[in-house]
Amino acid sequence: MSQTTHNPDASQRFIFENADIRGEIVRLNKTYLDTVRGKQYPEPVGALLGQFLAASALLSTTIKFDGRLVIQARSEGEVKVMMAECTSAGELRGIARYAQAPTSEQFSELLRGGNLVITIDTRKGEPYQGIVELEGTNLAECLQAYFYQSEQLASTFYFAADKDHVAGLMLQQLPGQLHKDEDERKRHWEHFSTLARTITDEELLSLPNADILHRLYHQEELRVFAPRDLKFACSCSRERTARAIAALGKVEVDEIIAEQGGVEISCEFCGTEYNFGPGELALLFEGAEEGTSH
Ligand SMILES: [Zn+2]
Repeated sequence: MSQTTHNPDASQRFIFENADIRGEIVRLNKTYLDTVRGKQYPEPVGALLGQFLAASALLSTTIKFDGRLVIQARSEGEVKVMMAECTSAGELRGIARYAQAPTSEQFSELLRGGNLVITIDTRKGEPYQGIVELEGTNLAECLQAYFYQSEQLASTFYFAADKDHVAGLMLQQLPGQLHKDEDERKRHWEHFSTLARTITDEELLSLPNADILHRLYHQEELRVFAPRDLKFACSCSRERTARAIAALGKVEVDEIIAEQGGVEISCEFCGTEYNFGPGELALLFEGAEEGTSH
């Protein structure tokens, strides 16, 4: 088993042996830096995107499928769109779009009047989508409201970030298996979530997971799972880009060719540039026409 200290980009799951509660710790360094590299995000925007990345990793870990989990916010505030996704293979990417340099560092200003949408895309069947209004003073509160509304399960989130790292801690109530009594479940939840909130930014960012868990829950029996490696990766490809160009329609693409000689597209997430010359573009539409004639 690899030590998380050797690969800081990982998440690790734990469950309480004597309470229906699970937890997860995530820490991102290179993944975060790869996501924001070359983007010149203003500091509060980059920091918030880091939290979105951490949240997507925390929420994707329990989903047993081949697919991805996407957290996306759309707002009327200074950040118009923010999204992060994590695949079942532990590959993350994310992006922020903002109208101007933000004048505030406040979550409620950056993402004012918006919604948070969580999509689980399993690549087979309809994606599952849940939505919550962006209320509260930070992402953690929004996610807590989301899980309370959608699943009636209590959860607590805690995020910390510095210039190069982002870390997150999640605790979530599970449906009653060990204990059915509501009062007992509530007592467990209050006890363990109160302890979780005693973590400091510094501890969450720098301590190994074993030390964090010892510091919070040394009196409890925990089952700790193997860490799951995480990394930045983009799912863009030449084929997908070609499909997006074909979707513009022949008329529009012919106009772009007349003006620019070809089509140049760079991926918003990873910056990869895709160039298509007139010959290759003509083939795109020939293929489409043949396809429709069958
Ligand atoms: Zn890309």
